[in-house]
Amino acid sequence: MKVRKGFVSNSSSSSFICEISGEIETSCDTTYKEIGFAECENGHIFCSEFLLPGIDDLIKLFDPSNIDTKITTVEDIDAIIKDRKRAEEMIKCESIYDIANYYEVPKVFCPICQMEKFSKDELIDFLLKESNTTIEKLSKVVKERFSNYKDFKEYLE
Ligand SMILES: [Zn+2]
Repeated sequence: MKVRKGFVSNSSSSSFICEISGEIETSCDTTYKEIGFAECENGHIFCSEFLLPGIDDLIKLFDPSNIDTKITTVEDIDAIIKDRKRAEEMIKCESIYDIANYYEVPKVFCPICQMEKFSKDELIDFLLKESNTTIEKLSKVVKERFSNYKDFKEYLE
């Protein structure tokens, strides 16, 4: 089973949290694309504005109305077949319908998989590891240093 990070659900609606910006979107029964989100094949969830360029061209390749208008010569057909083959390899067994709705987007378009942007959670994990500490140890340090939450919050700003 796929782990859907950033996914919170109750009876009437779902909330999605962008792993990059922390932005939250709440909606009922709709696609990622419609709410301005995307999910990559490795399960990263983020605002669709962060998608790397080229995804809409890939989706267009599978749109018959778009292909028909492009064909004028035999070379055009060859080029389209080549593009299409490359695209099919890229999407593997995923359905283009899902990808067009920004589900299971190939990792080449994911800014986190391509290390163009970073997940806040993963950066925190990195920082903890680099500092040779844990959430538990850090919580203790914060508790010792600040006598109340207000002071701690002010320090963070
Ligand atoms: Zn990813």
